[in-house]
Amino acid sequence: MEPSMISVVVPVFNEEKNLPEFIRRCLEACQSLGIAFEIILVDDGSRDGSARLISEAAEHHRDKVVGVFLNRNYGQHGAILAGFSCSRGDIVITLDADLQNPPEAIPLLVDKARQGYDVVGTVRVNRRDTGFRKLSSWMMNKLVQRITGVMMHDYGCMLRAYHRDIVKAMLSSRGHSTFIPVLANSFARSTTEIEVPHQERTGGESKYTLWKLINLQFDLLTTMTTFPLRVLSVIGIILSGFGFALGIFILVMRLIHGPQWAVGGVFTLFALLFFFVGAQFLGMGLLGEYIGRIYYDVRERPRYLISHITGRSQFVHEMQKDRTSGI
Ligand code: UDP
Ligand code: MG
Repeated sequence: MEPSMISVVVPVFNEEKNLPEFIRRCLEACQSLGIAFEIILVDDGSRDGSARLISEAAEHHRDKVVGVFLNRNYGQHGAILAGFSCSRGDIVITLDADLQNPPEAIPLLVDKARQGYDVVGTVRVNRRDTGFRKLSSWMMNKLVQRITGVMMHDYGCMLRAYHRDIVKAMLSSRGHSTFIPVLANSFARSTTEIEVPHQERTGGESKYTLWKLINLQFDLLTTMTTFPLRVLSVIGIILSGFGFALGIFILVMRLIHGPQWAVGGVFTLFALLFFFVGAQFLGMGLLGEYIGRIYYDVRERPRYLISHITGRSQFVHEMQKDRTSGI
């Protein structure tokens, strides 16, 4: 496939320290492609000078850098979806603004996508993150591989290329808790991966607190599958079978050894009780998780609201009017 245009979608949340260098290197990398391109910087409700920097860049490099401003913070994946809705390229690339993944890898991704792959992922070589982040990523990657059956090694890395059709499919998917790489793979026919270097964050801090990470893992798990619900039923069946057998055992022992034995077993019963109550709570928690998500989805609230777009000619801007919010 010969693309006529490339879109690069970048979520930005309080990245004023990295933006100037990012924009410069990203423009350089895109210019080296020799095809039309647009860099869509999505301001995810930043509270520092990021919005101003994006406006200035959009003004300065009209139609090459486009600023999309959300009215508040919707999270990385919401911001990327908002960027998708404004993108026009045949190949859409997502990339973080923190320079942990080099923008210089964009031509490599485009090359692979040209070979006809629906999704091109990347694997971070020499990953520079904390041990805890690496461990949680490793567990999630294994789980996603198992459940989706798509053997990609690094779902957490956002440096990716998507074919236009895949982006369209993602935009038409409903549901609030979206994890983009997994969603994309559920539509992709052919996927591949390349290796890219990974740098430490030089400016600013990671926007993922422990709480945000936990939320993300839950999103990932429950959007992918209802498998945990099934596991729960199986555990429930095993536990109640076990409880039933134990009841009979206690009864028999009491008949053989008399009431002393049963009194001696009071604490065992307590332990068992706690065990079951615990299991029930776990089950209810998980059920609640799904119900909460159903509740969110039936309300069909927009996933993001774009307050304005800069750096685009008026005509295109008009076209985008009906796309200012995603459901
Ligand atoms: N980000 C965002 N909204 C958020 C959190 C993060 O748009 O609520 C952006 C952030 O600006 C960056 C990317 O998402 O471009 C990845 O964030 P970060 O580098 O903090 O994540 P990490 O590399 O620690 O996984
Ligand atoms: Mg980062």
